[in-house]
Amino acid sequence: MSTKLADLAEKLKIPVKDLKEKITSLGFDITPRARVIEDDVAELVLDELKSKKEEETKGPEDVAEIYDEIIAEEREREIVKSQRKQKAGKTDTKKSDVKVNREEKVEIDTSKPIEIPESITVKEFGEKTGIKIAKIIGELMKNGILANINQQIDFDTAQIIADDMNVKIKRKRSVAGVEELMAGDISKLLQVDDPSDLKERPPVVVVMGHVDHGKTKLLDSIRETDVVAGESGGITQHIGAYQVEKKGKLITFLDTPGHEAFTSMRARGAKATDIAILVVAADEGVKPQTIEAINHAREAGVPIIVAINKMDKPNANPDKVKGELAEHDLQPEDWGGKTVMVPVSALRGDGIDTLLEMVLLTAEMEDLKANPDREAVGTVIEAHLDSNLGPVATILINTGTLKIMNNVIVGQTYGRIKLMRDHNGKPLRIAGPSSPALIAGLAKTPKSGDILQVVANEKIAKQRSEEVILQTKQESEEKMSGMDTVISTVKSEKILRLVVKADTKGSLEAIKQSVAKIKDEEVAVKIIHSGVGSVNKSDVMMAAASGGIVAAFHTDFDSPYVDKTADREGVEVKKYTVIYALLEDIKKILSGLLDAEIVRKVLGRAQIKQIFLTKKKEMIIGGKVLSGKLQNKAKFDILRGKDEEGEDKVAGEGRITSLRKVDKEVKEIGEGNDCGMKVNSDIPIEEGDIFEVYIEEEKHRTL
Ligand code: GDP
Repeated sequence: MSTKLADLAEKLKIPVKDLKEKITSLGFDITPRARVIEDDVAELVLDELKSKKEEETKGPEDVAEIYDEIIAEEREREIVKSQRKQKAGKTDTKKSDVKVNREEKVEIDTSKPIEIPESITVKEFGEKTGIKIAKIIGELMKNGILANINQQIDFDTAQIIADDMNVKIKRKRSVAGVEELMAGDISKLLQVDDPSDLKERPPVVVVMGHVDHGKTKLLDSIRETDVVAGESGGITQHIGAYQVEKKGKLITFLDTPGHEAFTSMRARGAKATDIAILVVAADEGVKPQTIEAINHAREAGVPIIVAINKMDKPNANPDKVKGELAEHDLQPEDWGGKTVMVPVSALRGDGIDTLLEMVLLTAEMEDLKANPDREAVGTVIEAHLDSNLGPVATILINTGTLKIMNNVIVGQTYGRIKLMRDHNGKPLRIAGPSSPALIAGLAKTPKSGDILQVVANEKIAKQRSEEVILQTKQESEEKMSGMDTVISTVKSEKILRLVVKADTKGSLEAIKQSVAKIKDEEVAVKIIHSGVGSVNKSDVMMAAASGGIVAAFHTDFDSPYVDKTADREGVEVKKYTVIYALLEDIKKILSGLLDAEIVRKVLGRAQIKQIFLTKKKEMIIGGKVLSGKLQNKAKFDILRGKDEEGEDKVAGEGRITSLRKVDKEVKEIGEGNDCGMKVNSDIPIEEGDIFEVYIEEEKHRTL
């Protein structure tokens, strides 16, 4: 939808000419004869004016208000117009005079459900559904919610009103719950697309291997094959990832060699890579970190392509390398196995083309797809504070297309994409699936592994990031012990994963054999990585990424720093001096001895004074806190009447799904206060019922 330039200029008290200049200076094409601008652009101009606090205009709040007024009036007019046209059987296809990269707004079409986000203001809800604002406020009031036009209502509330008004709405997908964002669980976000919307996307490749085997050199050598970079004078920016073109197809490389970045991202639940290139020096063969890398890739379920590097060296012995890799279950293709092994020389550039072809071939078999026509979801590859640009982050787009000026939440922070660049430092307006992009415009510096998600506006972005911060705080207060993660993995996946480090090869073999003998009908015990030596960061991160534990036999942490990492990541590192003790601990985990104990903690009591709305299992009610406090999402027993012994009788149970104080959504509410609640319960609630509100806490146990 659009805003009239003349209206905006008049209210801002600047000439239309100046306004047009402003718009041009912001990088939008505007024709001299343009009369209207898109809402996004109007918003941008206002942002700009706000930030400069120009004296000749009104104050920033007034500016925002004026803007809201104009937009509201304009939208009102458009809604009326489109409704009229719909009645007349025509559709309104008027376009704005300014072209800007944005999604088309949906016309109000009552035959299809209207998409409503998780949270929406009364005003926006009215605009989207065509329901009169006064009507919405009235309906909310009927349901015991006092709301004004700018009040945020959640989807469930919107649904109740829409049902009453016979308007079909559906939940707008792709906005992840705070819990999902926190857990870094993007799998849900990536699954919601209709298969017909999915298109091929470039593979994302990570290069791993032992130190000095040539990972950095290989990444540089591959980058040099990129014609596009060559054309721009080869001035490249290390942003943590880059793309090259091969046979008209793109390949994305993570530019941070080594599996540390890869595993720390995976430990946060992000699956950022599709293919791993394992670099093995032809003159040295398989080394400890080669094995680590193999295990990391295997655990992540990522296919491995081997690059046998340094083939130019006189003592290069690829057959010996192949033999050693075969011992670790990587059988070369030319020996009848399945693993692609390409001899290369990163130094001379030999074999790079073949390697890239093999990457494309593997990608083809993996059938990598994403939906470019949706709001972007991405993963932070790296981030830092830039002296000029402020917080900047390299985002790898998992699905969708990220556009300049998109509002985003990223981990615990949020912002608006004010600037976007590719690895050549070239400005980008959009970035599609598998593309790496450097972005600026965030309020704070995010962490690698954080998830980026596009949201409708800055308000929602801010609100969501506040929710995330609150949740993080709560989580760190009641931090899950490492054992809980392990136990939940054992329960859900039926595998207990171990990383075993031992002082000698002999004791390591003895441990492996003893562990293999443990028989459990349900759960498999799997050593995901083992080695001789002290416990290093990679061991810890590997256990973190797969929900396992580290067993150190007659050995200790590599450094106090590793100890700290284990603590931070919540990884249990157990030291043993006898194998028997290790086996006992494994049995304890398997026999459920370490399951967390659930303890009920009563928070308070409330009396129900009014029932506003009853809907199948959901009710909106009003009450007063008699003692203690109420907490959103807490459970309750419904106390009604007394038994023979004069004790309260429990008539049913339920859960608070939303808690309000006057007209504000709150997390908790204290004694003596009136409150509004949305609840789910197994029996209908009656006036006069007492709620005994409680939460369930898990009591953690450790080995
Ligand atoms: P990384 O630790 O795995 O990243 O290894 P680097 O890429 O830093 O390489 C380690 C050393 O090996 C450097 O001195 C490189 O110049 C050298 N190197 C890398 N690739 C080759 C190669 O193909 N042939 C030869 N002769 N040397 C190489």
